[in-house]
Amino acid sequence: MSPTKQQKLFDSTCFIVLGGQPADFALTHLAAAGIGNLIVFGDSGSHARVKASIDSGQDANLCYVTGTAGSDLFDGSLNNVDMVIESSLDWQFKLHLSDLCMRLRLPLIHSGSSGMRFQIFSMMPGKSACLRCALPIAGIDDYPLVPVARDTFEPVAACAGALMALDAIKLLANVGVTQGSELRKVDGLSGEIEIIRGLDPRRDCPDCGSSYSR
Ligand SMILES: [Zn+2]
Repeated sequence: MSPTKQQKLFDSTCFIVLGGQPADFALTHLAAAGIGNLIVFGDSGSHARVKASIDSGQDANLCYVTGTAGSDLFDGSLNNVDMVIESSLDWQFKLHLSDLCMRLRLPLIHSGSSGMRFQIFSMMPGKSACLRCALPIAGIDDYPLVPVARDTFEPVAACAGALMALDAIKLLANVGVTQGSELRKVDGLSGEIEIIRGLDPRRDCPDCGSSYSR
């Protein structure tokens, strides 16, 4: 990467919502790629888990924020943040993050995973549908009301985390093609990779539609 692009990464701030394992892997890649500021949101157990995996010799400025639910996050929590990355196990929190990021016009890199499967979606306000609109089109519309307890097979979570980090780095450094209107689903058991395209803002949606017409 050119020095100018690398500087962009160093000047960037990512807000990472822990929970499922993909965000742990994404965090490690982002620190290694030279993202300057990483705000790590989760409970003390998830903080301890990722602290053990981050190379202390890296330059990233890591800040740990304790919280577990959407009610712990407000507009002000995301001041000076360039992007949010999440693999929360709380679906209501995921939807809250979608609303918050749409309102603040912040890119949100979403992942959901369980066992041998995952999906990721890079929500770009103004360019893509919100999570509330995109997930049902991808066949995901049964959102649990309480946080789920799900483990993801480690190689599958590592794959999801690496793809999320790649999307984040491309967006922050402005390189390559952004996957803003695509949701990618990977099934590790069948080996199928499905890309659902055309997840554009919906004019009739108060969240993504209003940013579309702005
Ligand atoms: Zn929408």
